[in-house]
Amino acid sequence: MHFDSLEFFVYLAAPCHGLTPAGIRALLKLRQTQLAARAGATGALVRVEVRNERLDLRSAGRGTPLISDFHSLICLQLIESFPARAGDLRALLAARRKSKGPLDLDELVDALWDKDGGAALDDAARKHRLSRPLLAATLWAAVKPLYEATALAYLRHLDPPLVGAQCPVCSGAPYARQVDDWLCSVCETAWPASRVCPACAGDHWHEAEGIQPQGARRLYCGGCGKAMAEYEGGDAFNDVFDLGPPVELMKQLS
Ligand SMILES: [Zn+2]
Ligand SMILES: [Zn+2]
Repeated sequence: MHFDSLEFFVYLAAPCHGLTPAGIRALLKLRQTQLAARAGATGALVRVEVRNERLDLRSAGRGTPLISDFHSLICLQLIESFPARAGDLRALLAARRKSKGPLDLDELVDALWDKDGGAALDDAARKHRLSRPLLAATLWAAVKPLYEATALAYLRHLDPPLVGAQCPVCSGAPYARQVDDWLCSVCETAWPASRVCPACAGDHWHEAEGIQPQGARRLYCGGCGKAMAEYEGGDAFNDVFDLGPPVELMKQLS
């Protein structure tokens, strides 16, 4: 059997998060769909603002038709993977097509950046009778390829200093350390890491309970509890990505 590095990573790391085999297959398809979307977004015109020498990715999600395209792609993929949840997923698509007061994706993607998840998401879920967690998770899955494509384009054209505890491109928090780099949970940029916790600057990491996959470790900070994955380098780990939100989405749908 031939495995590419994305399959390798998903089949290695996803079972440790308690996903079923069907959930793991769906997770792989979701990421493949996101990568195809990311490739499609390359060269698209996205308006991006730079603030304090960092990309304001929040602004990149505004006013682009790509978000609704990606959201449709993702929802259709999920309907295929989780036919028993087709009703809830189709309701998301139907709410966007309403002639009177449709879901405003621009506003909702923007609300994802608010600390409490945004009253806008609560209101939209109530008004359209949607599952709020499903609405938020599918929107995040749809917008992430755009953020990743925007960060890649930025790094091709500009040469920002790659330092700090937060992502030097978008200020996102790291979710993993891969060899000597942090990986950004928002845009997947890699930049040189230190040993200390990016959240509290503590330096005591503990292994999380449960199975630890080969070539990877699940850790948490002894100071603040921040979860952190640790991955090996090399070709087999070329397609590492933040498993947190997609794993939650698969669990919601399973
Ligand atoms: Zn970033
Ligand atoms: Zn910490």
